[in-house]
Amino acid sequence: MYDIVIIGAGIIGTFIARELSRYKLNIALIDKENDVANGTTKANSAIVHAGFDAKPGSKMARFNVEGNAMFDKICNDLDVEFNRIGSLVIGFSEEEMKELQKLYQRGLENHVPDMEIIDKKRVKELEPNISDNVVGALYAATGGIVGPWEMAIALAENAIENGVELLLNHEVKDIQKTQKGYELLTSEGPMQAKCIINCAGVYADHINNMIAKPTFKINPRRGQYFVLDRDARNIVNTVVFQCPTKLGKGILVTPTVHGNILVGPDAEDLDDRENLSTTADRLEYIKEIAKLTMEKIPYHMTITTFAGLRAEPSTGDFIIEESKDAKGFINVAGIKSPGLTSSPAIAQYVVGLVGKILGNLEEKAEFNPTRRKLIRFDQLSQEEKEETIKRDSRFGRIICRCEHITEGEIVDIIKRKAGATTVDGVKRRARPGTGRCQGGFCGPRVVEILARELGKDMAEILKDGRNSNVLTEKTHKGSDGSDVKEWAAVSIEK
Ligand SMILES: Cc1cc2nc3c(=O)[nH]c(=O)nc-3n(C[C@H](O)[C@H](O)[C@H](O)COP(=O)(O)OP(=O)(O)OC[C@H]3O[C@@H](n4cnc5c(N)ncnc54)[C@H](O)[C@@H]3O)c2cc1C
Repeated sequence: MYDIVIIGAGIIGTFIARELSRYKLNIALIDKENDVANGTTKANSAIVHAGFDAKPGSKMARFNVEGNAMFDKICNDLDVEFNRIGSLVIGFSEEEMKELQKLYQRGLENHVPDMEIIDKKRVKELEPNISDNVVGALYAATGGIVGPWEMAIALAENAIENGVELLLNHEVKDIQKTQKGYELLTSEGPMQAKCIINCAGVYADHINNMIAKPTFKINPRRGQYFVLDRDARNIVNTVVFQCPTKLGKGILVTPTVHGNILVGPDAEDLDDRENLSTTADRLEYIKEIAKLTMEKIPYHMTITTFAGLRAEPSTGDFIIEESKDAKGFINVAGIKSPGLTSSPAIAQYVVGLVGKILGNLEEKAEFNPTRRKLIRFDQLSQEEKEETIKRDSRFGRIICRCEHITEGEIVDIIKRKAGATTVDGVKRRARPGTGRCQGGFCGPRVVEILARELGKDMAEILKDGRNSNVLTEKTHKGSDGSDVKEWAAVSIEK
């Protein structure tokens, strides 16, 4: 029997797993997907919000501000890229400047440090490409950008190193009460736990309803984005929001930690919790609105588009509590934006709830808060590069030409704890396929490396989720009619 089973290996589940791995507990982190961070955590704006947006007194406000302050240490410990580049909410009229004043006041109530209202001249100094129609802005120095899925992967790796068991491809189908706690019926068989933590993202209400009264509902709210090539990186320096609307924080233009530019998201309520399609009409709408921020966004440099699903709770605020009618069952639900920013503080709070349920938690002397640094070959000095290649010649072989990723880096991220097993898993950890060609050149090489390192047949290698096979079978003839055996590929939609 596990002390704790955490359902959902997104940023929330992985953070809680890592924080609980400080204690002498038997913990399983389970997910229905075949990789960590395959839900909302892989598709969002990647902003570490300053915290002026949420309603004072709400859980969102509290955990946003507390979480923001925790990012420097955690990202340093886990070697995750994070930059406090600051954020601007821009106003285009005196009316909007009044709204920004309200946001500023709300920020003060939420205890957000280092904010100021700045005039047009200062906005243009910070962001020369912003529309001349700008009147002023709310500047928050603590706003930042982070690698969200890299962070979840790093947390999972660190949690495993500290004793947590990660069980992927484990879909929770039902939960039953037992004398000593709970039995979870998963797609891979039953599991017993004293305590369950529900971090199932857009499915958190389904999981709650398996064991407790339906006290909340999650509505999926889709947001779509453009991703621009790194050649566009100089168009913006900070995170630039427009004045928020009822539907959220509005369209933003921001750099990512990898030097790309993100434009989006819109907000669209759906019934379907799996619909991650992008649509021409919504992307056109994003272009129209983003034009107000910046007249000349170079959309010809778009390398991909994507969509994410917010877990919009019917309660309007994060739900982080032990269920009233299922003792030992904790909901961490409705974690919409600023969920990524809030995740470190939410995790600490949940440790407190677990402590109350299981009694005093005993710390492990051997807990290691750090993980081995990633090898980012392109960022090494010439001498370091030469030394690394001398140690392992695979670092001398470039696999991804757009992002200059070597075979050595790909092998490293496959071999780590919570390592990559799919083409997109490799892409999210080491970035081959994130550049201009979107994997056109390196995709087949990545499939070969995965098959070799995992001891699998190439036809077994998946692009991303289940059934996303890349290759189907060996053909008998080569394309020139020779006897050379070639692989037949299926077209990839996902
Ligand atoms: C468009 C958009 C923009 C956003 N921008 C920001 C931002 O800039 N800054 C910010 O702070 N926040 C942002 N957010 C919010 C942030 O992305 C989320 O709060 C966060 O990713 C939620 O993480 P999670 O772990 O709760 O959910 P998820 O990442 O969705 O993880 C839930 C996991 O549960 C698993 N699961 C579900 N059902 C089951 C089951 N039956 N059995 C087993 N496993 C199951 C899923 O597979 C999934 O991996 C944004 C969100 C969206 C959609």
